[in-house]
Amino acid sequence: MKLWSILGNSQKLDGGAMFGNAPRAMWARWASPDDENRIDLACRALLASPLNGKTVLFETGIGAFFEPKLRERYGVVEDRHVLVESLAAAGFKPEDIDVVVLSHLHFDHAGGLLAPWSEGQSPTLLFPNATYIVGRRHYERALEPHARDRASFIPELPALLEATGRLELVEGEFSKALGDTVRFHYSDGHTPGLMLAEIVGPDRVEGETHGGVVFCADLIPGRPWVHVPITMGYDRNAELLIDEKKAFLADKLRRNVHLFFTHDPQCALAQVVRDEKGKFGTAHEVPALHARALAA
Ligand SMILES: [Zn+2]
Repeated sequence: MKLWSILGNSQKLDGGAMFGNAPRAMWARWASPDDENRIDLACRALLASPLNGKTVLFETGIGAFFEPKLRERYGVVEDRHVLVESLAAAGFKPEDIDVVVLSHLHFDHAGGLLAPWSEGQSPTLLFPNATYIVGRRHYERALEPHARDRASFIPELPALLEATGRLELVEGEFSKALGDTVRFHYSDGHTPGLMLAEIVGPDRVEGETHGGVVFCADLIPGRPWVHVPITMGYDRNAELLIDEKKAFLADKLRRNVHLFFTHDPQCALAQVVRDEKGKFGTAHEVPALHARALAA
């Protein structure tokens, strides 16, 4: 099994919103803001093949589905569908993807499922053979969003996914499509039922799996958020998120599971470390994965 990091469309978003209650003087050291106070963000997907005999894409980024005005409002940099180009560069076409795993359905994670915007065209899905894996609890939220995050969902998406007949809603640790090769963790601090997919590592220690890679989605969007108190203004419940993140990082550190970041422009993969004061950080940072074997 090999891994590729697949860059999708990039985004520029307000730095203050991305770093919650952290003061500008602090976050400006981690991500330098432009004249409009916006910072660079990646939308990076993870491709694994063969995984349970399948080619699996973890997320699709923001894509190119927005009409020009909204594309500008949400700071989407390119108008082409960058994810599809990055897939091609890695040797894959959308029809090669057997499974797409979605941590949640906010547009900057699921928008890449859709074909690029075109005047007068209604949205269509790009992956004709894929089973779509979504957490059931989050899916229910997407069907009935709260006013707090309604604008983060694509209203047409649930019906499009259901119409394929290939939507698998997951409730527990494992899915039908991926068996015991991918284990799901859940977090509610960012959005209810956020699903964190761990590609299970090859090692077993006292009945536990060690090694492997976990897709951190919006629980930990990039390296600055590995520091436990740092949250996003977009999180629905910052205190809960901090508690969940602490337990999540302690578990990944103990089992040597590497972190995969979707929004960090410079870092795709890193190992978790903890200093003598108990502060979490990262080491062995990797900017991109090109057909990399799982064992680090
Ligand atoms: Zn989100």
